[in-house]
Amino acid sequence: MALVKISEILGGDCTDKQVSVRGWVYRKRQGKELIFLVVRDATGVIQCTVKKANATAWAEAEKLTIESSLTLEGVAKPDTRAPGGYEIAAEAVSIIGLAEVFPIAKDKSEEFIRDMRHLWLRSRKMNVVMDVRAKVLEYSREYFRKTCFTEVSPPMFISAAVEGGSTLFGLKYFDQTLYLTQSSQLYLEILIYSLENVYCIAPSFRAEKSRTIRHLTEYWHMEAEWPFADMNDLMKFEEGLMEHICKRTAEDCQKEFAELGADISKLAQVQVPFPRITYAEAIDRLKAKNSALKWGDDLGYEDEKLLAEEFGKPFFVYDYPKAIKAFYCKTRRDQPEIALSVDMMVPRIGEISTGGQREEDKDQLIQRMKEQELKPEDYEWYLDLRRYGTVPHVGFGMGVERLLVWMLDLDNIIDAIPFPRTTRRFYP
Ligand code: ATP
Ligand code: MG
Repeated sequence: MALVKISEILGGDCTDKQVSVRGWVYRKRQGKELIFLVVRDATGVIQCTVKKANATAWAEAEKLTIESSLTLEGVAKPDTRAPGGYEIAAEAVSIIGLAEVFPIAKDKSEEFIRDMRHLWLRSRKMNVVMDVRAKVLEYSREYFRKTCFTEVSPPMFISAAVEGGSTLFGLKYFDQTLYLTQSSQLYLEILIYSLENVYCIAPSFRAEKSRTIRHLTEYWHMEAEWPFADMNDLMKFEEGLMEHICKRTAEDCQKEFAELGADISKLAQVQVPFPRITYAEAIDRLKAKNSALKWGDDLGYEDEKLLAEEFGKPFFVYDYPKAIKAFYCKTRRDQPEIALSVDMMVPRIGEISTGGQREEDKDQLIQRMKEQELKPEDYEWYLDLRRYGTVPHVGFGMGVERLLVWMLDLDNIIDAIPFPRTTRRFYP
């Protein structure tokens, strides 16, 4: 008998054939003559019926509890009443692992479900989100490969803060203090001198106290750096990457979006070129909406959301005041107060990436460090990159979970990662 995946049955590949599926009991309803089981595997759920007339299968099915694992054999038939349009008329049921009473039920609170993350990940919602997450990572890698980028593996333990400041996690490393990386950028910058176009998809850690729908303390960061490029090259690359990810997702993930009730049509609107506005224009637009923001202020979540409403799709904001940007941002030679930095924003979430041109001149870089009260001696190796064959270069970092929150219309970033870490959540 053919062992099949549930998606094969739902796709119509097994109609009227004898099949065997392996999975877990998702729902169960027992009538007088019929037991309805909804069985799930990694690929979907299917309704199965067990008739009382089949005494052996019936006895086994009666014992089944929610989340018991099983093998079920029978004939796959189209049935318009069944969710998904197919049903298995079971002929044999065999329990693999009988489950104790499953703690997650409809009446449970959100807090309880978060404590039960290890079990909640079996829900269809989480199953589908994790599936799309894996695909989005795959499409991203596809684009990087197509554009001749090499994937690299930067360290997570670092000895100096990338940007310094309050969101750094320190940790005991034998008898010294180290930090968990907030960004791999500086390490990618090292690697451009040999590999040229490089990227990584790796964790970044931020001691973010703010509890928002867009902050985690550990998130996955898609970062890239490359030499001989400017701001225009950077924005072109980023919009190309986004267009590719959205196009591939729209082609490939229709069922997943339908199951989540997420709007897939917004992905079709992601087409290059993206709208680009300067920071100064963003401030003007916000002022026109009665914002009290003035030139020099950083854009907050509410400001970004307000701006994004006008576009209804991804767009860029570039040319920020240098005072609100990191020391490594190159400044405009014709307007030294402006940093060559760019954020990509999307509706509902605001910023999903920050990138920019990196300062390639050693003296300018030292000057910028001093302005920000950083010690150049802490960055000797970083300065070496400007001493030996410096090149103009650019790079960006995009939060994988933020991207997913937008794509999948999720309410909260914690649903975009299997084991979310926030100020209060680190279990399991
Ligand atoms: P924000 O101002 O929204 O906190 P940021 O400007 O401090 O973000 P960057 O240092 O620019 O963040 O990081 C690059 C990208 O990484 C961001 O655009 C965002 O997509 C993602 N990111 C940053 N911090 C977090 C976080 N705490 N949780 C999830 N993703 C994050
Ligand atoms: Mg940023």
